[in-house]
Amino acid sequence: MNGAAVVVGGGLAGTLALGALIGQVGTVTVIERDRYPEDPVFRKGVPQGRHLHVFLSGGQRALETLLPGTLAELAAAGAHRMEAPRDVITRTASGWQRRFHEGRHSVLSCTRPLFDATVRARVLAEAARSGTRVEVLEATEAIGLLGTADRVSGVRVRARDAERAERDIRADLVVDASGRSSRAPQWFGELGRPAPREEVVDAGIGYSTQMLRPAEPLDMSMVVEPRPNCPRGAAWSPVENGNWLLTMAGVRGHHPPTESAEVLDFIASLDEPHLHEHVSGCTPVSPPFGYRDTANRRRSYHAPGGVPEGFIAVSDAACTFNPIYGQGMSVAALSALALRDCLVKGGLRPGFAAVAQRAVARASDTAWLTAVGADRPYAAAEDATPPGAAERIQTWYFGRLVARATIDPVVGAAFRDLTHLAAPTSRLLSPAVALRTVLLPRRGGLPTPPLRVEETVR
Ligand SMILES: Cc1cc2nc3c(=O)[nH]c(=O)nc-3n(C[C@H](O)[C@H](O)[C@H](O)COP(=O)(O)OP(=O)(O)OC[C@H]3O[C@@H](n4cnc5c(N)ncnc54)[C@H](O)[C@@H]3O)c2cc1C
Repeated sequence: MNGAAVVVGGGLAGTLALGALIGQVGTVTVIERDRYPEDPVFRKGVPQGRHLHVFLSGGQRALETLLPGTLAELAAAGAHRMEAPRDVITRTASGWQRRFHEGRHSVLSCTRPLFDATVRARVLAEAARSGTRVEVLEATEAIGLLGTADRVSGVRVRARDAERAERDIRADLVVDASGRSSRAPQWFGELGRPAPREEVVDAGIGYSTQMLRPAEPLDMSMVVEPRPNCPRGAAWSPVENGNWLLTMAGVRGHHPPTESAEVLDFIASLDEPHLHEHVSGCTPVSPPFGYRDTANRRRSYHAPGGVPEGFIAVSDAACTFNPIYGQGMSVAALSALALRDCLVKGGLRPGFAAVAQRAVARASDTAWLTAVGADRPYAAAEDATPPGAAERIQTWYFGRLVARATIDPVVGAAFRDLTHLAAPTSRLLSPAVALRTVLLPRRGGLPTPPLRVEETVR
């Protein structure tokens, strides 16, 4: 095992990148701006951590391949596993989705602090067993890259204590996992490189999340998706310790409240009396917290010449998604697996960064295409890249398919494979799915929430 790597950001993607690097390189240094709390509680460096974070089956499979046994540890720590569509009922723009046992996919639901702490403990335990020397520098901020326009050779860091001492850490590979607030585009400028091109599709979604405790928990989680005549939605999902998270979302002009007193009015406006009645009977555990930065944003590090030798960007530092689709953590796991696969094929070597960056981008392709395809109709013309002809056709087909998936088990299975990031977008073009999508009539979903599981599915 040769070479030294630095991971900038010790959040979920940084931790999973560490999981990919151990056993493959000689030393890894993780630079994290925050101090990790002793217990799994909210920390400032992950401001989205108060909101509902579900983990899709594509991400679960990647995590289990990278770090076998982690799903069982999450379950033991209190994460709920809910099979879709049996335990997750969803109202789409065309009505309620049918509810039945399919056995293909599930989501994990727990608080983000619990998820991160469990994965982190697992990776650190693996690191201690690996031959890689691992150092985690907490309360330390990366403030720039070392090297030239063509080759990155490390990072400059600053301690966040009173002295604010700066020092250089040399590395053969720098992995930027510093999330949405990554400063790598500016750091590229300081090295004399152009910043990566950015593609932004912003549906203008605002989020608000409150933790509540029901007296009588439901036997399912509920999702009410925004629709054209009511661009507001909500998700209701269990987390650990008997609490549930109510995440509310709305597009511009319909942003959800951040005052407790207004939450029930917002839920009433969704026109789902069952959810409203249930939430009315719950006890608040926290106030609602808002969040606004929800755009889909992809930096073109994966384009030819997009990264210098010795540098890659992963997860939110490279590509963020509208959180309503619950994809970012799964993409972090898929990206880490892609990174490890590249390392296994010959370790750090000349040209590694470009190869690894393309592999990481491929791992996020399905998430990007589905999020952008669904958000185009909501995106404001001024801040969206205009769609080409191919993307307009995709949006049309996707719209029909989403409607059909609500009631059709064949199309629904393909749709779930995609939205759980367990299949590429070509899955939606298989003959059976395409024929049913295009030829069968567009019918609405169920008019009311399916409170019972269907016994036989046709
Ligand atoms: C409201 C909301 C809801 C979401 N819901 C879901 C969901 O249901 N399911 C899902 O899969 N995804 C969801 N996501 C996406 C998910 O939160 C992100 O994809 C995920 O956190 C990305 O992990 P990351 O490690 O790249 O970034 P982060 O989790 O943001 O971590 C970045 C880390 O880098 C550190 N850092 C930053 N700058 C520096 C620096 N200069 N030096 C050192 N350290 C630094 C930070 O302190 C932090 O620890 C949601 C996102 C939002 C905004």
